[in-house]
Amino acid sequence: MRNVRVKPLAFRKISAVSRRCHWWLALAVGAFGLVALCFVPGTGNAQDTRVIYQVSSREAMAIGRFDGGPKISTLKKHGNFGLGTFDGLDGELIVIDGKAYQARVDGPPTLADDAARTPFALVTFFKPTQTITVHTTTNLQVLEQLILASMPSKKIYSAVRLTGRFTSIKARSVPKQTAPYTTLAKAVEQQHVFTLRDVDATLVGFWSPPAMAEMSGGGLHLHFLSTDGKHGGHVLDCEFNPLKVELEPIRHIEIVLVDH
Ligand SMILES: [Zn+2]
Repeated sequence: MRNVRVKPLAFRKISAVSRRCHWWLALAVGAFGLVALCFVPGTGNAQDTRVIYQVSSREAMAIGRFDGGPKISTLKKHGNFGLGTFDGLDGELIVIDGKAYQARVDGPPTLADDAARTPFALVTFFKPTQTITVHTTTNLQVLEQLILASMPSKKIYSAVRLTGRFTSIKARSVPKQTAPYTTLAKAVEQQHVFTLRDVDATLVGFWSPPAMAEMSGGGLHLHFLSTDGKHGGHVLDCEFNPLKVELEPIRHIEIVLVDH
């Protein structure tokens, strides 16, 4: 009987010690996990609310999915900064300070109709965290290298904004397409290319990592709006004297697919 009584007591003792150990172990693991979540680079954390909202994909555009998509009014709820296109490739979309502009192939850019639809766009609420000061005359290729050298990782996105005077901006807009649509490569053959010299402008867009090329294009994608509001489009190249370039590295992306 004694043996029988002793056994449960010993068990209760060991069990109580064991429970305390488990609590301490659980607390230690939890604390370590919390620290790891907050400080391990590249994982993001609960406070990292920076996100790109993207409509459709570059690959869908490549095969001619040029229509449908959310309304511009919806897009603006997901970002005040970005770029894209319109239903039927009817001009280049430029989003600056919460205003969406439509730069058609002819005429100056206009404020986009909130009811217009976008089959491809990337927007975010821009809050730059880094500034690069470019000291010499630079073109788009050099700019991309400067951006990459400043980014914490080449595996994530960065929102990019340039504001100032440009020696030149070479840009394009594409004429509206009608269904049945051709491929993007064929549509771009009809692009209207123009070059502006000594122009004050704002360039907005994103650098996307090579691993996301089919989704977002890969590399640097910029649209511009001249400060006088008379010109806008998709930037093919640009040259500029000393200028500040603002960046916002972004790890999160939300993608809405277009099914009509
Ligand atoms: Zn573009």
